[in-house]
Amino acid sequence: MTTGIAIFSALAALAALIVLAIRMRRSGAESKVEINAWRQRLEHDLQQARDERNRLLDALGDAFLLVDDSGTVRFANSAAHDLFSSNELVGKAVREVIHDPRLAKSVARCLSTGEPIQSQVVLPQQTSPRGDQENRGINAWVIDAARMPPQPDGGTTTRIILRDVTAEHHIEQIRKDFVANASHELRTPMAIINGYLENLLDDNLVEETEMARRFLTIMRKHSDRISRIIEDMLVISRLESGEANSLKIEPFRFRSCIHDVMERLESVIRGQNAEIQVVMPDETLIIHGDRFYWTQVLFNLVENALKQNPHPGLRVEVGCTQHAGGIHIWVADNGIGIPSADLPHIFRRFYRVEKHHSTREIKGTGLGLSIVKRAIEAHRGSIGVTSVPGRETKFLISIPLQSPVSAENEV
Ligand code: ATP
Ligand code: MG
Repeated sequence: MTTGIAIFSALAALAALIVLAIRMRRSGAESKVEINAWRQRLEHDLQQARDERNRLLDALGDAFLLVDDSGTVRFANSAAHDLFSSNELVGKAVREVIHDPRLAKSVARCLSTGEPIQSQVVLPQQTSPRGDQENRGINAWVIDAARMPPQPDGGTTTRIILRDVTAEHHIEQIRKDFVANASHELRTPMAIINGYLENLLDDNLVEETEMARRFLTIMRKHSDRISRIIEDMLVISRLESGEANSLKIEPFRFRSCIHDVMERLESVIRGQNAEIQVVMPDETLIIHGDRFYWTQVLFNLVENALKQNPHPGLRVEVGCTQHAGGIHIWVADNGIGIPSADLPHIFRRFYRVEKHHSTREIKGTGLGLSIVKRAIEAHRGSIGVTSVPGRETKFLISIPLQSPVSAENEV
Protein backbone atom coordinates (compact mmCIF):
# COMPACT_ATOMS: atom_id res chain seq x y z
CA MET A 1 0.00 0.00 0.00
CA THR A 2 2.79 2.34 1.07
CA THR A 3 4.66 1.44 -2.09
CA GLY A 4 1.55 2.22 -4.12
CA ILE A 5 1.28 5.64 -2.47
CA ALA A 6 4.96 6.31 -3.06
CA ILE A 7 4.66 5.42 -6.75
CA PHE A 8 1.61 7.57 -7.10
CA SER A 9 3.38 10.50 -5.41
CA ALA A 10 6.40 10.07 -7.62
CA LEU A 11 4.20 9.95 -10.71
CA ALA A 12 2.35 13.07 -9.60
CA ALA A 13 5.66 14.90 -9.01
CA LEU A 14 6.90 13.81 -12.43
CA ALA A 15 3.70 15.03 -14.05
CA ALA A 16 4.04 18.39 -12.22
CA LEU A 17 7.66 18.65 -13.42
CA ILE A 18 6.65 17.92 -16.97
CA VAL A 19 3.89 20.55 -16.82
CA LEU A 20 6.40 23.07 -15.35
CA ALA A 21 8.98 22.25 -18.00
CA ILE A 22 6.37 22.64 -20.75
CA ARG A 23 5.26 25.95 -19.24
CA MET A 24 8.84 27.22 -18.93
CA ARG A 25 9.70 26.25 -22.49
CA ARG A 26 6.57 27.97 -23.72
CA SER A 27 7.29 31.14 -21.73
CA GLY A 28 10.94 31.09 -22.95
CA ALA A 29 9.69 30.86 -26.54
CA GLU A 30 7.16 33.58 -25.88
CA SER A 31 9.73 35.97 -24.42
CA LYS A 32 12.04 35.28 -27.38
CA VAL A 33 9.22 36.26 -29.71
CA GLU A 34 8.59 39.30 -27.57
CA ILE A 35 12.26 40.31 -27.57
CA ASN A 36 12.38 39.90 -31.33
CA ALA A 37 9.27 42.02 -31.71
CA TRP A 38 10.86 44.70 -29.50
CA ARG A 39 14.06 44.59 -31.50
CA GLN A 40 12.18 44.93 -34.75
CA ARG A 41 10.14 47.82 -33.43
CA LEU A 42 13.29 49.56 -32.17
CA GLU A 43 15.03 49.11 -35.52
CA HIS A 44 11.97 50.37 -37.31
CA ASP A 45 11.77 53.47 -35.05
CA LEU A 46 15.48 54.06 -35.47
CA GLN A 47 15.18 53.80 -39.25
CA GLN A 48 12.23 56.16 -39.17
CA ALA A 49 14.21 58.66 -37.12
CA ARG A 50 17.12 58.32 -39.55
CA ASP A 51 14.82 58.78 -42.56
CA GLU A 52 13.27 61.82 -40.93
CA ARG A 53 16.72 63.32 -40.25
CA ASN A 54 17.80 62.64 -43.84
CA ARG A 55 14.58 64.13 -45.18
CA LEU A 56 15.17 67.30 -43.16
CA LEU A 57 18.80 67.56 -44.21
CA ASP A 58 17.84 66.88 -47.83
CA ALA A 59 15.36 69.73 -47.63
CA LEU A 60 18.29 72.08 -46.91
CA GLY A 61 19.29 74.11 -49.94
CA ASP A 62 22.89 74.08 -48.75
CA ALA A 63 25.29 71.18 -49.21
CA PHE A 64 25.69 69.36 -45.88
CA LEU A 65 28.37 66.78 -45.01
CA LEU A 66 29.17 64.88 -41.81
CA VAL A 67 32.82 63.87 -41.58
CA ASP A 68 34.37 61.57 -38.97
CA ASP A 69 37.75 61.82 -37.11
CA SER A 70 39.59 60.19 -39.98
CA GLY A 71 38.26 62.74 -42.48
CA THR A 72 35.85 60.29 -44.10
CA VAL A 73 32.42 61.44 -45.22
CA ARG A 74 29.74 59.68 -43.14
CA PHE A 75 26.71 61.51 -44.46
CA ALA A 76 25.92 63.78 -47.41
CA ASN A 77 22.56 65.40 -48.17
CA SER A 78 21.09 65.58 -51.65
CA ALA A 79 22.29 69.21 -52.19
CA ALA A 80 25.84 67.92 -51.58
CA HIS A 81 25.31 65.09 -54.08
CA ASP A 82 24.04 67.61 -56.63
CA LEU A 83 26.86 70.04 -55.97
CA PHE A 84 29.62 67.47 -56.32
CA SER A 85 27.73 65.56 -59.07
CA SER A 86 28.17 62.24 -57.31
CA ASN A 87 25.92 59.68 -55.69
CA GLU A 88 28.77 58.10 -53.79
CA LEU A 89 30.14 60.61 -51.36
CA VAL A 90 29.75 58.49 -48.22
CA GLY A 91 32.95 56.58 -47.48
CA LYS A 92 35.14 58.96 -49.50
CA ALA A 93 37.85 61.11 -47.93
CA VAL A 94 36.58 64.70 -47.62
CA ARG A 95 39.71 66.05 -49.36
CA GLU A 96 38.73 64.00 -52.41
CA VAL A 97 35.28 65.57 -52.37
CA ILE A 98 36.22 69.23 -51.79
CA HIS A 99 39.07 69.77 -54.24
CA ASP A 100 39.40 73.52 -54.28
CA PRO A 101 42.42 74.40 -52.09
CA ARG A 102 40.73 77.52 -50.66
CA LEU A 103 37.69 75.58 -49.42
CA ALA A 104 39.73 72.52 -48.44
CA LYS A 105 42.00 74.67 -46.25
CA SER A 106 39.09 75.74 -44.03
CA VAL A 107 37.86 72.16 -43.69
CA ALA A 108 41.33 70.82 -42.85
CA ARG A 109 41.79 73.48 -40.17
CA CYS A 110 38.48 72.66 -38.51
CA LEU A 111 39.20 68.92 -38.62
CA SER A 112 42.65 69.26 -37.09
CA THR A 113 41.99 71.92 -34.46
CA GLY A 114 38.27 71.49 -33.78
CA GLU A 115 37.96 75.26 -34.16
CA PRO A 116 34.69 76.35 -35.84
CA ILE A 117 35.35 78.01 -39.20
CA GLN A 118 33.09 80.31 -41.17
CA SER A 119 34.48 82.05 -44.18
CA GLN A 120 33.42 83.42 -47.55
CA VAL A 121 35.44 82.27 -50.51
CA VAL A 122 35.20 83.97 -53.91
CA LEU A 123 36.30 81.65 -56.66
CA PRO A 124 37.47 82.88 -60.05
CA GLN A 125 35.90 81.89 -63.34
CA GLN A 126 35.89 78.20 -64.19
CA THR A 127 36.78 77.23 -60.62
CA SER A 128 34.00 75.99 -58.42
CA PRO A 129 32.99 73.08 -56.23
CA ARG A 130 30.81 72.22 -59.24
CA GLY A 131 33.94 71.52 -61.26
CA ASP A 132 33.49 71.95 -65.01
CA GLN A 133 29.74 72.45 -64.63
CA GLU A 134 30.22 75.99 -63.38
CA ASN A 135 29.30 78.46 -66.09
CA ARG A 136 28.40 81.51 -64.06
CA GLY A 137 31.86 83.03 -63.97
CA ILE A 138 32.99 84.33 -60.59
CA ASN A 139 31.16 82.38 -57.86
CA ALA A 140 31.06 82.85 -54.11
CA TRP A 141 30.62 80.33 -51.29
CA VAL A 142 30.29 80.43 -47.53
CA ILE A 143 31.93 77.46 -45.85
CA ASP A 144 30.77 76.78 -42.33
CA ALA A 145 32.46 73.90 -40.48
CA ALA A 146 32.16 73.00 -36.80
CA ARG A 147 32.71 69.97 -34.60
CA MET A 148 29.53 68.30 -33.31
CA PRO A 149 29.11 67.35 -29.60
CA PRO A 150 31.03 64.09 -28.81
CA GLN A 151 29.21 60.83 -29.53
CA PRO A 152 28.53 58.19 -26.77
CA ASP A 153 31.37 56.02 -28.17
CA GLY A 154 33.79 58.92 -27.79
CA GLY A 155 34.14 59.57 -31.55
CA THR A 156 33.77 63.06 -32.99
CA THR A 157 31.98 64.24 -36.10
CA THR A 158 32.41 67.50 -37.96
CA ARG A 159 29.61 69.10 -39.92
CA ILE A 160 30.38 71.05 -43.05
CA ILE A 161 27.89 73.36 -44.71
CA LEU A 162 28.65 74.83 -48.12
CA ARG A 163 26.32 77.67 -49.12
CA ASP A 164 26.18 79.22 -52.59
CA VAL A 165 26.20 83.01 -52.13
CA THR A 166 27.02 83.93 -55.74
CA ALA A 167 23.82 85.96 -56.23
CA GLU A 168 24.37 87.94 -53.00
CA HIS A 169 28.01 88.51 -53.97
CA HIS A 170 26.97 89.94 -57.35
CA ILE A 171 24.37 92.23 -55.76
CA GLU A 172 26.97 93.47 -53.29
CA GLN A 173 29.39 94.08 -56.16
CA ILE A 174 26.74 96.03 -58.11
CA ARG A 175 26.04 98.13 -55.02
CA LYS A 176 29.73 98.89 -54.53
CA ASP A 177 30.12 99.79 -58.23
CA PHE A 178 27.05 101.98 -58.05
CA VAL A 179 28.32 103.97 -55.07
CA ALA A 180 31.77 104.32 -56.68
CA ASN A 181 30.34 105.37 -60.05
CA ALA A 182 27.77 107.75 -58.57
CA SER A 183 30.45 109.46 -56.47
CA HIS A 184 32.72 109.71 -59.48
CA GLU A 185 30.00 111.10 -61.75
CA LEU A 186 29.00 113.72 -59.16
CA ARG A 187 32.57 114.62 -58.29
CA THR A 188 33.51 115.58 -61.87
CA PRO A 189 30.94 118.40 -62.34
CA MET A 190 31.40 119.44 -58.70
CA ALA A 191 35.15 119.87 -59.25
CA ILE A 192 34.54 121.90 -62.41
CA ILE A 193 32.09 124.20 -60.60
CA ASN A 194 34.54 124.66 -57.72
CA GLY A 195 37.35 125.44 -60.15
CA TYR A 196 35.37 128.21 -61.82
CA LEU A 197 34.21 129.55 -58.46
CA GLU A 198 37.82 129.81 -57.31
CA ASN A 199 38.72 131.66 -60.50
CA LEU A 200 35.88 134.09 -60.01
CA LEU A 201 36.59 134.81 -56.37
CA ASP A 202 40.36 134.41 -55.94
CA ASP A 203 41.38 136.07 -59.20
CA ASN A 204 38.71 138.69 -58.68
CA LEU A 205 37.13 138.09 -62.04
CA VAL A 206 33.63 138.94 -60.80
CA GLU A 207 34.11 142.52 -62.00
CA GLU A 208 34.84 141.39 -65.54
CA THR A 209 31.26 140.92 -66.62
CA GLU A 210 31.94 139.07 -69.86
CA MET A 211 34.29 136.56 -68.25
CA ALA A 212 32.04 136.13 -65.20
CA ARG A 213 29.03 135.45 -67.43
CA ARG A 214 30.96 132.82 -69.38
CA PHE A 215 32.10 131.11 -66.18
CA LEU A 216 28.60 131.20 -64.68
CA THR A 217 27.15 129.66 -67.84
CA ILE A 218 29.57 126.74 -67.60
CA MET A 219 28.82 126.37 -63.91
CA ARG A 220 25.10 126.28 -64.60
CA LYS A 221 25.60 123.56 -67.20
CA HIS A 222 27.43 121.40 -64.68
CA SER A 223 25.01 122.08 -61.85
CA ASP A 224 22.19 121.05 -64.24
CA ARG A 225 24.10 117.87 -64.80
CA ILE A 226 24.31 117.19 -61.06
CA SER A 227 20.56 117.78 -60.73
CA ARG A 228 19.89 115.40 -63.62
CA ILE A 229 22.06 112.65 -62.17
CA ILE A 230 20.26 112.94 -58.84
CA GLU A 231 16.85 113.03 -60.54
CA ASP A 232 17.73 109.95 -62.65
CA MET A 233 19.01 108.05 -59.62
CA LEU A 234 15.77 108.78 -57.80
CA VAL A 235 13.75 107.52 -60.78
CA ILE A 236 15.81 104.30 -60.89
CA SER A 237 15.47 103.72 -57.17
CA ARG A 238 11.70 104.30 -57.36
CA LEU A 239 11.40 101.77 -60.19
CA GLU A 240 13.76 99.31 -58.50
CA SER A 241 11.90 99.44 -55.23
CA GLY A 242 9.19 97.51 -57.07
CA GLU A 243 6.55 100.08 -56.31
CA ALA A 244 4.24 98.92 -59.08
CA ASN A 245 1.66 101.24 -57.64
CA SER A 246 3.89 104.20 -58.33
CA LEU A 247 3.05 103.63 -62.02
CA LYS A 248 0.04 105.50 -63.27
CA ILE A 249 -1.44 102.88 -65.57
CA GLU A 250 -3.87 104.05 -68.21
CA PRO A 251 -4.67 103.13 -71.79
CA PHE A 252 -3.11 105.49 -74.33
CA ARG A 253 -2.33 105.54 -78.02
CA PHE A 254 1.32 104.72 -78.57
CA ARG A 255 1.30 106.90 -81.70
CA SER A 256 0.73 109.98 -79.54
CA CYS A 257 3.74 109.01 -77.43
CA ILE A 258 5.91 108.82 -80.58
CA HIS A 259 4.51 112.18 -81.63
CA ASP A 260 5.49 113.81 -78.30
CA VAL A 261 9.04 112.45 -78.51
CA MET A 262 9.47 113.66 -82.10
CA GLU A 263 8.22 117.07 -81.10
CA ARG A 264 10.70 117.29 -78.23
CA LEU A 265 13.60 116.23 -80.41
CA GLU A 266 12.52 118.15 -83.50
CA SER A 267 15.30 120.76 -83.43
CA VAL A 268 18.02 118.09 -82.99
CA ILE A 269 16.55 115.99 -85.81
CA ARG A 270 16.43 119.01 -88.08
CA GLY A 271 19.90 120.17 -86.98
CA GLN A 272 21.42 116.79 -87.81
CA ASN A 273 19.34 116.32 -90.93
CA ALA A 274 18.39 112.88 -89.63
CA GLU A 275 15.67 110.81 -91.26
CA ILE A 276 13.06 109.37 -88.91
CA GLN A 277 10.71 106.65 -90.09
CA VAL A 278 7.72 105.42 -88.13
CA VAL A 279 6.54 101.86 -88.80
CA MET A 280 3.16 101.36 -87.23
CA PRO A 281 0.67 99.29 -89.22
CA ASP A 282 -2.06 100.04 -86.71
CA GLU A 283 -1.86 103.72 -85.87
CA THR A 284 -4.57 103.36 -83.25
CA LEU A 285 -2.67 100.75 -81.20
CA ILE A 286 -3.36 101.17 -77.50
CA ILE A 287 -0.87 100.47 -74.72
CA HIS A 288 -1.82 100.04 -71.11
CA GLY A 289 0.92 101.63 -69.11
CA ASP A 290 2.38 104.72 -67.56
CA ARG A 291 2.55 107.20 -70.39
CA PHE A 292 5.21 109.29 -68.62
CA TYR A 293 7.65 106.35 -68.45
CA TRP A 294 6.89 105.17 -71.99
CA THR A 295 7.66 108.65 -73.29
CA GLN A 296 10.93 108.59 -71.33
CA VAL A 297 11.79 105.15 -72.75
CA LEU A 298 11.20 106.21 -76.33
CA PHE A 299 12.87 109.58 -75.80
CA ASN A 300 16.03 107.99 -74.47
CA LEU A 301 16.28 105.44 -77.26
CA VAL A 302 15.76 107.98 -80.05
CA GLU A 303 17.96 110.57 -78.32
CA ASN A 304 20.75 107.97 -77.99
CA ALA A 305 20.62 107.21 -81.70
CA LEU A 306 20.84 110.93 -82.50
CA LYS A 307 23.45 111.74 -79.85
CA GLN A 308 25.81 108.94 -80.85
CA ASN A 309 25.55 109.80 -84.55
CA PRO A 310 25.72 113.56 -85.00
CA HIS A 311 26.80 113.33 -88.65
CA PRO A 312 24.34 113.55 -91.56
CA GLY A 313 22.95 110.40 -93.13
CA LEU A 314 21.44 108.92 -89.98
CA ARG A 315 18.26 106.92 -90.40
CA VAL A 316 16.21 106.04 -87.32
CA GLU A 317 13.24 103.67 -87.42
CA VAL A 318 10.67 103.67 -84.65
CA GLY A 319 8.21 100.79 -84.83
CA CYS A 320 5.37 99.23 -82.94
CA THR A 321 3.35 96.13 -83.86
CA GLN A 322 0.92 93.86 -82.11
CA HIS A 323 1.03 90.09 -82.43
CA ALA A 324 -0.58 87.14 -80.68
CA GLY A 325 1.91 87.06 -77.79
CA GLY A 326 2.10 90.77 -77.10
CA ILE A 327 3.41 94.07 -78.42
CA HIS A 328 6.81 94.74 -79.98
CA ILE A 329 8.31 98.19 -79.96
CA TRP A 330 11.67 98.92 -81.54
CA VAL A 331 14.07 101.74 -82.23
CA ALA A 332 16.74 101.01 -84.84
CA ASP A 333 19.42 103.16 -86.44
CA ASN A 334 22.15 102.77 -89.02
CA GLY A 335 24.78 104.63 -87.00
CA ILE A 336 28.15 103.72 -85.48
CA GLY A 337 26.58 101.01 -83.32
CA ILE A 338 27.76 99.38 -80.13
CA PRO A 339 30.81 97.08 -80.07
CA SER A 340 29.84 93.51 -79.18
CA ALA A 341 32.10 93.59 -76.09
CA ASP A 342 29.99 96.45 -74.68
CA LEU A 343 26.58 94.99 -75.50
CA PRO A 344 26.19 92.85 -72.34
CA HIS A 345 26.88 95.88 -70.11
CA ILE A 346 24.90 98.54 -71.91
CA PHE A 347 21.94 98.56 -69.48
CA ARG A 348 24.18 98.93 -66.42
CA ARG A 349 24.03 102.16 -64.49
CA PHE A 350 26.62 104.73 -65.63
CA TYR A 351 27.84 102.49 -68.43
CA ARG A 352 28.97 104.36 -71.52
CA VAL A 353 30.91 103.12 -74.50
CA GLU A 354 32.68 106.44 -74.79
CA LYS A 355 33.97 107.09 -71.30
CA HIS A 356 35.87 110.35 -71.54
CA HIS A 357 34.29 113.63 -70.56
CA SER A 358 35.50 116.95 -71.79
CA THR A 359 34.48 120.19 -70.10
CA ARG A 360 32.77 121.40 -73.21
CA GLU A 361 31.04 118.33 -74.46
CA ILE A 362 28.93 116.17 -72.20
CA LYS A 363 27.28 113.34 -74.05
CA GLY A 364 25.51 111.60 -71.20
CA THR A 365 25.73 109.95 -67.83
CA GLY A 366 24.92 106.41 -68.84
CA LEU A 367 21.77 106.31 -66.74
CA GLY A 368 19.28 106.54 -69.62
CA LEU A 369 19.26 102.86 -70.59
CA SER A 370 19.08 101.82 -66.92
CA ILE A 371 15.88 103.81 -66.59
CA VAL A 372 14.61 102.38 -69.88
CA LYS A 373 15.19 98.80 -68.72
CA ARG A 374 13.67 99.27 -65.28
CA ALA A 375 10.65 101.13 -66.62
CA ILE A 376 9.98 98.32 -69.12
CA GLU A 377 10.42 95.65 -66.45
CA ALA A 378 8.00 97.53 -64.18
CA HIS A 379 5.49 97.00 -67.03
CA ARG A 380 6.33 93.25 -67.07
CA GLY A 381 8.19 93.67 -70.35
CA SER A 382 11.74 93.06 -71.51
CA ILE A 383 14.29 94.78 -73.73
CA GLY A 384 17.17 93.44 -75.79
CA VAL A 385 19.69 94.95 -78.16
CA THR A 386 21.56 93.81 -81.25
CA SER A 387 24.12 95.81 -83.11
CA VAL A 388 26.01 95.54 -86.36
CA PRO A 389 28.07 98.75 -86.33
CA GLY A 390 27.38 100.90 -89.39
CA ARG A 391 24.43 98.74 -90.45
CA GLU A 392 21.82 98.38 -87.76
CA THR A 393 21.59 98.90 -84.01
CA LYS A 394 18.21 97.76 -82.78
CA PHE A 395 16.61 98.00 -79.36
CA LEU A 396 13.63 95.61 -79.23
CA ILE A 397 11.04 95.79 -76.48
CA SER A 398 8.43 93.10 -75.81
CA ILE A 399 5.46 93.68 -73.56
CA PRO A 400 2.50 91.47 -72.77
CA LEU A 401 -0.75 92.48 -74.44
CA GLN A 402 -2.49 93.47 -71.24
CA SER A 403 0.07 93.53 -68.48
CA PRO A 404 -1.07 92.19 -65.09
CA VAL A 405 0.01 95.48 -63.56
CA SER A 406 -2.48 97.37 -65.67
CA ALA A 407 -5.27 94.95 -64.84
CA GLU A 408 -4.67 95.48 -61.11
CA ASN A 409 -4.35 99.21 -61.32
CA GLU A 410 -7.10 100.10 -63.70
CA VAL A 411 -10.18 101.58 -62.13
P1 ATP B 1 21.99 109.50 -70.45
O1 ATP B 1 21.00 108.74 -71.24
O2 ATP B 1 21.98 109.17 -69.01
O3 ATP B 1 21.96 110.94 -70.72
P2 ATP B 1 23.81 108.06 -72.11
O4 ATP B 1 22.94 108.31 -73.29
O5 ATP B 1 25.30 108.09 -72.30
O6 ATP B 1 23.45 109.05 -70.93
P3 ATP B 1 22.52 105.51 -71.94
O7 ATP B 1 21.31 106.04 -72.60
O8 ATP B 1 22.38 104.62 -70.79
O9 ATP B 1 23.46 106.68 -71.45
O10 ATP B 1 23.42 104.77 -73.02
C1 ATP B 1 24.60 104.13 -72.59
C2 ATP B 1 25.61 104.09 -73.70
O11 ATP B 1 25.17 103.19 -74.71
C3 ATP B 1 25.81 105.39 -74.43
O12 ATP B 1 26.74 106.18 -73.76
C4 ATP B 1 26.37 104.91 -75.76
O13 ATP B 1 27.74 104.68 -75.64
C5 ATP B 1 25.67 103.58 -75.97
N1 ATP B 1 24.52 103.67 -76.90
C6 ATP B 1 23.23 103.66 -76.55
N2 ATP B 1 22.44 103.71 -77.64
C7 ATP B 1 23.26 103.74 -78.71
C8 ATP B 1 23.07 103.79 -80.12
N3 ATP B 1 21.85 103.84 -80.66
N4 ATP B 1 24.17 103.79 -80.89
C9 ATP B 1 25.41 103.74 -80.36
N5 ATP B 1 25.66 103.69 -79.05
C10 ATP B 1 24.61 103.69 -78.22
MG1 MG C 1 20.84 108.08 -73.15
